[in-house]
Amino acid sequence: VTVPQRLLLGSGPSPVPRRVLDALAQPTIGHLDPAFAALMERCQERLRQVFRTANAVTLPISGTGSAGMEAMVVNFVRPGDRVVCGVHGLFGARMADELARNGADVVVVEGEWGRALDPQRLIDALGDGAAALFVVHGETSTGVRQPLDGLAAACRERDALLMVDCVTSLAGAPISIDDEGIDVAFSGTQKCLNAPPGLAPLTAGDRALERLEPGRSWYFDLTMLLGYWTEGNGAPPRAYHHTAPINLVYALDEALGLVLEEGLEQRWARHLDAHEHLRQALAERGFERLAPEGEQLASLLCVRVPESVADEAAVRRALLLEHDIEISGGLGPLAGQVWRIGVMGEGARPEAQQRLLDALDTLL
Ligand SMILES: *Cc1c(COP(=O)(O)O)cnc(C)c1O
Repeated sequence: VTVPQRLLLGSGPSPVPRRVLDALAQPTIGHLDPAFAALMERCQERLRQVFRTANAVTLPISGTGSAGMEAMVVNFVRPGDRVVCGVHGLFGARMADELARNGADVVVVEGEWGRALDPQRLIDALGDGAAALFVVHGETSTGVRQPLDGLAAACRERDALLMVDCVTSLAGAPISIDDEGIDVAFSGTQKCLNAPPGLAPLTAGDRALERLEPGRSWYFDLTMLLGYWTEGNGAPPRAYHHTAPINLVYALDEALGLVLEEGLEQRWARHLDAHEHLRQALAERGFERLAPEGEQLASLLCVRVPESVADEAAVRRALLLEHDIEISGGLGPLAGQVWRIGVMGEGARPEAQQRLLDALDTLL
C-alpha cells in the first residue's frame, strides 16, 4: 500500500517529525542488548524531565495511552476501593468504566461536556474513606483543561492517591507531576509528544508505590516491569518480562529529545500562541470555541460547527480526501456538533494551521 501524506490536525495521532521517523527506522536490536539498555535508561531520564518529576518509577508501558490507564488501575487500585472519578467527557467516562471493571467502588462526579469541574466538588466527594481521586487533565473530547487546585492537598489529608490522565496535556500544556503533587499519571506518545502510537509513559511516586501489590494483570504487573526496566542501585540485572517494542522506544526517545531541545516552557508557550491564533481565525469564520476562556486546553481546540455548515462530516471528508488534512469530529453528546482540532507539537505551527484555514476557505 502507498500511505498518503496527511497533515494530522485531529485529536491524535499528531504529525511525526522526520527525525522521529528516522529513529524508528533504525535496525532492531535485542531487548536485552546492552545498547538497548542504555537507551532505556536515557528514555526514562528524558521522561522524568518531561513529566517534571524525580520519580524513579517513570517508564513507557507497552501499549497505547489506554494501556497506561489500565496499568495504573491494576497496580494501584484494589477491588472495593472507593475512587472518586471526574467525568465531563469521554475519557473520564472511560476511566469510570475501567475502575468499575476492576471492582472499584466508583463515585462519579459528573459535569457538563465542555466545562471544567469545580475542584471543590471533587474534594467534597472524597469524603473520609476514598482511596483515590482521578481526573483527566486534558479532556480531548471537549478541549477542556481541568484545574488541579487543592486536589493534591485534599488527597494527602485523606491518605488518598491523586491519579491523572495527562495523555493530551503532556508536552503541550503546563503539567508538573511533582509540583502538582500527583501520585500517578499516564500519557500517550501520539499526542503532544509527536511519536507514533504504541507506548504509554507512566510515572508513580512513593505514596503510590507503598500500595503497589502483585498485580491482577500479568502483562501490566509493575513489579515485573520494573525488573526489566531498571538496573543499578543493587537491583538485579534486567530480566525478560515481555519484549519491549524496541523501535517505538527509539522513536519515543528521539521525540522526547526534540521536546527537551525546544524546552518545556517554550513549548507550552508555543502551544498557547498557536491555540489562540487558530481560535481567532476560526471565530472569524463563525466557529466558536466550546470551552470558555480560562478552561481551554491549549493542545486541543474544540469549536462548535455553525449552522451555515450543513454537512460537517462531508467537509471533514473533503478536507481529508481532497486536501490531505485530518481533523476530528465530535464524540458522544457532541457528535455532529463540534470539530476537534489538534494543536499538538508540530501541529502547533503557523504553517500547519494556515494550510487548514486555506483549505477550509476553499471548501466553505
Ligand atoms: C487519546 C487519549 C487516551 C487514550 O489513548 P489511546 O492511545 O487512544 O489508547 C486517553 N486519554 C486521553 C485524554 C486521550 O486524549
